[in-house]
Amino acid sequence: MPHFSFENYHRLVIKVGSSLLIGDDGHVHRRWLEGLASDVAMLHGQGHEVLIVSSGAIAIGSTILGINKRRARLEDLQAAAAAGQVQLVHAYQEVLGEHDIIAAQVLLTPGDTENRRRFLNARSTLSRLLERSVVPVINENDTVATEEIRYGDNDRLAARVAQLVMADVLILLSDVDGLYSADPSKSKDAVHIAEVQQISDAILAVAGETRSATGSGGMATKVQAARIATHAGCSTIVTSGAIERPLSALAAGSRCTIFRAQGTPASARKQWLAGALEVCGELRLDAGATRALRAGSSLLPVGVVAVGGDFRRGDIVSVLDANGTEFGRGLAEYSSEEAALIAGCQSEQIEERLGYRGRAVMLHHDELVVFSNDN
Ligand code: GLU
Repeated sequence: MPHFSFENYHRLVIKVGSSLLIGDDGHVHRRWLEGLASDVAMLHGQGHEVLIVSSGAIAIGSTILGINKRRARLEDLQAAAAAGQVQLVHAYQEVLGEHDIIAAQVLLTPGDTENRRRFLNARSTLSRLLERSVVPVINENDTVATEEIRYGDNDRLAARVAQLVMADVLILLSDVDGLYSADPSKSKDAVHIAEVQQISDAILAVAGETRSATGSGGMATKVQAARIATHAGCSTIVTSGAIERPLSALAAGSRCTIFRAQGTPASARKQWLAGALEVCGELRLDAGATRALRAGSSLLPVGVVAVGGDFRRGDIVSVLDANGTEFGRGLAEYSSEEAALIAGCQSEQIEERLGYRGRAVMLHHDELVVFSNDN
């Protein structure tokens, strides 16, 4: 069985669970984190983009504030998250800084990945950070999220982040080295599963029986996260992080389960756009913009001849060629009113027309599907 190779992947999301990061004293396990930072620096050096989704805020905050996690109320845990998060991200800042890597804190709530307008904002902020070789350190915004509006666990959050940034691989660092045919702590006959092509009901059932020693997730949430990510074209790895430099170990062949992606992130995104039922408006383009979109570019306001319908930022719009034939669909970066104001505008005129500094593109090429010519 060939082992996992980072070579096949460019944009990586690494999920770090509390059990790895927090030492017995309830504080950050500094040595382990330094090892992780060395691994991240190694991957950066090889040209990979890295995003980290890290738990640990509540655990660290409970230590600092002397809160007993088991007896605490929600508001105590939220207070703990506020105190713990600042220390957590500071630790990342220091260990990554040793390698001259800048860390940036990003706190998300489900609305940021589930609501399309906010999704566009979160996506463009994260892309800007990655363009500048910054490592986003992401956690749930536990301080304001209440039970009803929580991701609930960081495995799911990491899968949503992978989907948002169109990552090629999601690595869930856990306290187990992958999925087994039965719970390995209970059954001697449990067999390690190295590769999963399709997440079937049988796989979900196996995962449901296996609990991890610590952490809120267990194997079931990992397989559910893998299901979200693989459908978004992102392969998912579950491997043990309970060693120093777990990513180097993974590259050297340490044991893991790989859940294979269904298609690529781009094909998954385009399939979703092409199949969307609710199209809220249309943009008619000139011949130059039509050619540019067919060649894979984003749509600039200058190429828009007319705007139809009533849409908001994040809604799906049709793109029409000069004859009025629909040849694609995309997520609008501007509302219909704003689009009408800047249609035909050169980029440098956008601010003057809108009265504020807008975005450069009307449709981003990642959020755009162009139908093939024979459609
Ligand atoms: N967001 C939580 C924290 O930072 C952890 C959630 C989880 O471990 O899944 O403490």
